[in-house]
Amino acid sequence: MRIWLDGGLQDSESARVSVFDHGLTVGDGIFETVKAVDGRPFALTRHLDRLTLSARGLGLPDPDLDEVRRACAAVLDANPMPLGRLRITYTGGHGPLGSDRGEHGPTLVVALGETKRRPDTTAAITVPWTRNERGALTGLKTTSYAENVVALSRAHGQGASEALFANTVGQLCEGTGSNVFVVLDGELHTPPLASGCLAGITRALTVEWTGAKETDLPLDVLERAEEVFLTSTLRDVQAVHRVDDRELPGAPGPVTAKAMRIFDERAGNDLDP
Ligand code: PLP
Repeated sequence: MRIWLDGGLQDSESARVSVFDHGLTVGDGIFETVKAVDGRPFALTRHLDRLTLSARGLGLPDPDLDEVRRACAAVLDANPMPLGRLRITYTGGHGPLGSDRGEHGPTLVVALGETKRRPDTTAAITVPWTRNERGALTGLKTTSYAENVVALSRAHGQGASEALFANTVGQLCEGTGSNVFVVLDGELHTPPLASGCLAGITRALTVEWTGAKETDLPLDVLERAEEVFLTSTLRDVQAVHRVDDRELPGAPGPVTAKAMRIFDERAGNDLDP
């Protein structure tokens, strides 16, 4: 695998990042996962905008987006595959042990992994831990993902592929790596960004293309919603057929099926919507 590091392509087996990189020692970094279809990145402009916002939120220098675009193109060219996930990682760089940043510039790594289209339906669980809707990192796509890893492993232990969080005031927020939509009385809703969820790119496109409403929703809405679905770069729009012990037979229901269809049609037509 050829990856991008230090301004050029390198072999992933021999590429080296400092053991004092703050992305490793304190999780001081940000990232993007970008879907690539036949070597072409999907919604790259939106991902690069969010990368810049996350960098600013963390107080990192703005990433050089020309370099990031060149890196993505070079990595995609060097590793042809039908469906891939580009991973752009940008950290505070290496410095002294501790939380203060040193003078070294940031580290940029762009890598690629092969991926598969997700099944149309999946199971999700809720977890008792909360997302902080007013934290320093709220809304930023940082590499501090350990909480998500813990929640996701609980989901896997219960035969589910996603874990859903409420925020600190008990409102439905998001999954470990996805946004959530519910159907109530035939209408589509998703938690607003003020719930503390990430501004998912698939979420934004789905809201734009379906007219879903952004609504404060209590976590227990999952006990009565007619339909539930998840959105993310790697799931696209994915129906949920079970939340905790509650089965949602017939998933994808009509509203979800329509959202899936719209997403497939629109996203297939435009790789940078
Ligand atoms: N929420 C979290 C916490 C995520 O990590 C992600 C994606 O990784 C999403 C939501 C979905 O965002 P996107 O649609 O941009 O992939």
